Amino acid sequence: MIIHMEIGANEEAVQAVEDFIRKRGLGVEKIIGKERTVIGLIGDPKGIDENIVLGLDAVEKVTRITEPYRLVSLSRKRAMNGGKPLYTAVDVAGVKVGAGEPVFIAGPCAVESLEQMMIIARYVKEAGAHLLRGGAYKPRTSVYTFQGLGEEGLKYLQEAKNATGLPIVTELMSERYLDLFIKYGIDCIQIGARNDLNYDLLKEVAKTRLPVLLKRGMSTDITTYLQAAEYLLVGGNPNVILCERGIKTFETYTRNTIDLGAVAALKYLETHLPVIVDPTHGTGKRELVVPIGLAAMALVADGIIVETHHDPKKALCDGSQAISQQQLETLIQTGREVYHTARQALMKQ
Ligand code: PEP
Ligand code: MN
Repeated sequence: MIIHMEIGANEEAVQAVEDFIRKRGLGVEKIIGKERTVIGLIGDPKGIDENIVLGLDAVEKVTRITEPYRLVSLSRKRAMNGGKPLYTAVDVAGVKVGAGEPVFIAGPCAVESLEQMMIIARYVKEAGAHLLRGGAYKPRTSVYTFQGLGEEGLKYLQEAKNATGLPIVTELMSERYLDLFIKYGIDCIQIGARNDLNYDLLKEVAKTRLPVLLKRGMSTDITTYLQAAEYLLVGGNPNVILCERGIKTFETYTRNTIDLGAVAALKYLETHLPVIVDPTHGTGKRELVVPIGLAAMALVADGIIVETHHDPKKALCDGSQAISQQQLETLIQTGREVYHTARQALMKQ
């Protein structure tokens, strides 16, 4: 961390900043220029709150040198591995995410009935997907729309898992349902886009050690998103999968704007955690899901999560973005080829 003092800051102000830093066990390297003094911190600035420093007398600006996320950082992992990138694979009930094979997660937006779950789970399995999704607790914009079946939905998910052998991913909206998630054998907890900055929820989920699919919030920048993931790792849960699902921009043609640039930045520059893409919520239009899913595979994203429905017209939630069984098959088959072609080419670089 570097602290830039205001032009003409007096000696007492500079001394006060120095004392503040030294009291916290860090060293200080001062550069006294003609107009301005700059103070460099020596040591680990982890416990120093940048905003408190900014509030000190005559401090103009604070620059961070290291990322504010240590455990999720790719550069730290690389440094510990002799300069070579070292990626983490997350094991979801035997399915390894981030281990050199793309992982496909598919299922309906919401669990609607046992029959619906069974029909979809069977064709999702047949199509070659690895994990089954379905929401039992739904974060709906309108309180007047279907809110999910709750505990009953978790039960149907478990039955679909027993019938197909597919591990299940479902969204947790409140820590008060955690016991039920454990009771019904949920294999991976999804934290939805609306909750990626719900730090109390992240702290509780960190304690479970269950794999977490942490979706990026629609207004969360990359740094803040990685800091959210850091909460899970600091809390003792290293099993974190990141997911880009589209952000809010001026564009309203698509439901969200899928930020594939962020996927590349996360994977190649910022983090060792697996990164997957949700082209369903990222576009909101079924016709765009497979093309964007394939684009994600060309980035060598570690997986894709999509919504699918056997009868989308009758879906209780998000029917217009649900792909068919056939589209799912195309996505998985072609996606795998695109992934391996791109991965091989990138590895040669
Ligand atoms: C979902 O996966 O059904 C969902 C609500 O996703 P998001 O949190 O990305 O909106
Ligand atoms: Mn949905």
